[in-house]
Amino acid sequence: MHEWTEQTEQLAADVMAYARERLHMRPPPLDGPRAPEELRADAGPTITPDGIGGTEALRIFADVLAPACISTDHPRYFSFIPCAPTPASTLFDLVVGASSIYGGSWMEGAGAVYAENEALAWLAGLAGFPETAGGVFVQGGTIGNVSALIAARHRDAVRRLTEERPPPARYAVAASVEAHSSISSAAHAMDIDVIGVTPDEEGRLTGAALDGALDRSSTAHPGREPFAVVATAGTTNLGIVDDLESVSAVARRRGLWLHVDGAYGAAGLAAPSRRALFNGIETADSFVVDPHKWLFAPFDCAALIYRDPGAGYEAHSQHAAYLEPLRTGHDWSPSDYALQLTRRARGLPFWFSLASHGTDAYSAAIEQTLRVAEHAARRVREIDHLELIGEPPLSVVAFRRTGWTEARYYEWSAELLMSGTAFVVPTTHAGEVAIRVAIVNPRSTTADVDVVLDSLAD
Ligand SMILES: *Cc1c(COP(=O)(O)O)cnc(C)c1O
Repeated sequence: MHEWTEQTEQLAADVMAYARERLHMRPPPLDGPRAPEELRADAGPTITPDGIGGTEALRIFADVLAPACISTDHPRYFSFIPCAPTPASTLFDLVVGASSIYGGSWMEGAGAVYAENEALAWLAGLAGFPETAGGVFVQGGTIGNVSALIAARHRDAVRRLTEERPPPARYAVAASVEAHSSISSAAHAMDIDVIGVTPDEEGRLTGAALDGALDRSSTAHPGREPFAVVATAGTTNLGIVDDLESVSAVARRRGLWLHVDGAYGAAGLAAPSRRALFNGIETADSFVVDPHKWLFAPFDCAALIYRDPGAGYEAHSQHAAYLEPLRTGHDWSPSDYALQLTRRARGLPFWFSLASHGTDAYSAAIEQTLRVAEHAARRVREIDHLELIGEPPLSVVAFRRTGWTEARYYEWSAELLMSGTAFVVPTTHAGEVAIRVAIVNPRSTTADVDVVLDSLAD
C-alpha cells in the first residue's frame, strides 16, 4: 500500500487532473443530496477485503458521490454561509495534505506554525489587538467559541483561588438571545448557564441591556455568577453587529471576559466601508473569525485570537508523560490554545492565499461582496411582493415574500435546488418565515442575485 508503483503514478495523474478540473469549472455544478438507497445502488460496495483500486474508487467519487454534495462555492449558493476559497488556497490545501505536517507543536511544525502565526497576526492587527496577542486556527467557530469560554472560566477560577474567594454555585455567560447556537452548545458542554439578553430594536446587544440583564440575573439566581460576555460581530441570520463599545464598557466594569464571536462577520474588519461597525473589538479578550466563511479559505478553518494568549495556554495546554519532550522551550505550540491536541496545519491554505494575493485583494474582494449585497437589498426594496427585513449591515440580506405560506417557501427552495439554479433555504425571523441570501463569494454577481429574486414572482 505504501509503495510508489506505476499504478500510484497513474493515480497521482488522475487525482491531480480531477482536482484541477474541479477547480477550473466556472461554475461547478450545484449538485444536491440523494437518498442512501440511491447512492448504494449507484456506487455498489466500496469497502471489500481485496479493495476496488484507486482508479475505481475515484470514478465512484467523481460519478456518484461528488454529485451528491452541494458545491458550496457555486456562485448561487446563498444558504447558510457559503465557502468561496481562492484557487490559491485550495491548491495549497493539496500541498498541506501531501506534506504530513503535524500542526500541534512548534517542535514538529515550526515552519507551518510560523506561517499560520503570520496570518493570525494580520487578523489580530485588523481588530486592533496588541502585538502580544496570539491564537490558533481551529476547526470552526464552534470550537473557537467554546475554547475561548473555557479560557475565560479558567481565568475566573484561578482569580478566585488566588483571592481566596469561593467558586460560585453556578457559572454563567451572558449573550444576546440572537447569539449563535454554538454559544448555548458551549454552555451545555461546560455545564454553565446562559444569561440571555434582549437586543435593541435594531437587533444589537447593548451595554445598557446587558447591565440590566446581569442585575436581574443576580437577583433571580443568587449564587449564579457570570464570568464572560459574548458579543456577536455579525449574526449569521442578519449580519447584525452588537454595540461592542458599550458592551465592552460594561464587561470591563464588572470584570468579565469579553469574547467577540465574529465567525462570519469579523471578516468585515478588512472592509474599510464597514470597519466602524466593529469599534470596540480592540478591547475584547478574545475573538473568533472563520477564514472558511468570508475570508476565502477552504474548510475547515477558524481563527481564535486571545489578547493575552497566556490565558488560553493556562486553560488548554495538555500535560502527559509522553508529551513532555515538547515542552522544552517557550515555543508556540498551537495545541496549547484550544480544545484539541492533534491538528492539521489548517491555517496554511489561508496563509498561502493571503501571502500570494496581498491583503488589499482581500479588502477589495470583501467590498465586492458587500456591493452585491447592497444591490440585492435595493432590488428587494423595489419589488412590490418582497419585504426587506432591516437594512443589511454586512452581506446577509433577509426578506419576506408577501402572500406566501411557509410551505410555498420550502417548495420554491426545493425547486431552485432540484433545477440546479440556486441554493437558498428559508429561515425565520421574529417567528415568521423569511428568505435569506448570504453573499461571501466574490464570484456571485448581481445577475446571480437577480435570478433568485426573479424566481419569486409567482
Ligand atoms: C458560523 C458561525 C458559528 C459557528 O462556526 P462553525 O465554523 O460553523 O463552527 C458561530 N458563530 C457565528 C456568528 C457564526 O456565523
